Amino acid sequence: MILKVGFYPFRGLDAPFTRRESYHISMRRREFLWGMAGAASVGKPSSVLVHEHVLVDFVGADRIRPGRYDRDEVFRIARPKLEEVKRFGCQRLLECTPNFLGRDPELLARLSDVTGVEIWSNTGLYGAAAHKFVPSFARSESARQLAKRWIAETREPWRPRFIKIGVNNGPLDELDRKLVRAAAITARETGLTIASHTGDGAAALEQLEIVAAERTSLAKFVWVHAQNEPDHAVHEKVARAGAWVEFDGIGSKTAAHHLECVRFLAAKGLLSRILISQDSGWYHVGEPGGGDFRGYTYLYSDFLPLLEPAQIPVLMFDNPRAAFGA
Ligand SMILES: [Zn+2]
Repeated sequence: MILKVGFYPFRGLDAPFTRRESYHISMRRREFLWGMAGAASVGKPSSVLVHEHVLVDFVGADRIRPGRYDRDEVFRIARPKLEEVKRFGCQRLLECTPNFLGRDPELLARLSDVTGVEIWSNTGLYGAAAHKFVPSFARSESARQLAKRWIAETREPWRPRFIKIGVNNGPLDELDRKLVRAAAITARETGLTIASHTGDGAAALEQLEIVAAERTSLAKFVWVHAQNEPDHAVHEKVARAGAWVEFDGIGSKTAAHHLECVRFLAAKGLLSRILISQDSGWYHVGEPGGGDFRGYTYLYSDFLPLLEPAQIPVLMFDNPRAAFGA
């Protein structure tokens, strides 16, 4: 019988480890952090965080407007968070705040220039939260018309590097289906990848059908927030179809669940379809000082050391580039 001594080497993991397990994990963590620091110090930070935020404004598409926040204040608050994660070896961060939810390419470019962390922004629209963040033009325009807007945006100097949409739980309503079709058209014509905030597994499967019907490769579709679907069989089905399954929202309270999600797909031989990230940040517009800005380092300091060492470069270096481009 193994004596569980209830020693918790990592914040938030509710499964107690034996002393022997704890020792091995903490040694691995120490080696890992040395390795990360070494990689960063020789000027080769190369890992990618595929789903984070710098700023979000939840006021709604009908009330959002420029000047609702002090850009210099956001800059001052976000800068040290980005500098901190760069020291862990982060080369690039995909900023997943869509248009009409506080997307601010000018602010992101400024932060990127000063910190050296590449920050990728996006085109698209977010239909989740009962369409609160969908502007009125998107209700009347066709999928083709929306795609035309998004494709035009890819020619802007700030150059969105991926498509971010959001849909509610399945079965999807007509507006959500239209956003997915518009994203699939945009992906097909620009080569950009779709990251879709998705309510549940039913919505994920329905989106795959829409994307396939537009003759867009499923390798261009990322199921965002897949950790919210409790049935691992749905994760497996989506991964086997060739789409990406993203377990984001990794933090101290959720790490055990995320670890289980990763291990399940890895055990099925599907490590090469998994993305991981934190959905962390951000400056909350409307809250004093931007509220609680969660940093970007938990995944590096506490989560990655729990993985098998060979899994880390696949999840942090290879998969993000295969999914979103080099
Ligand atoms: Zn997010």
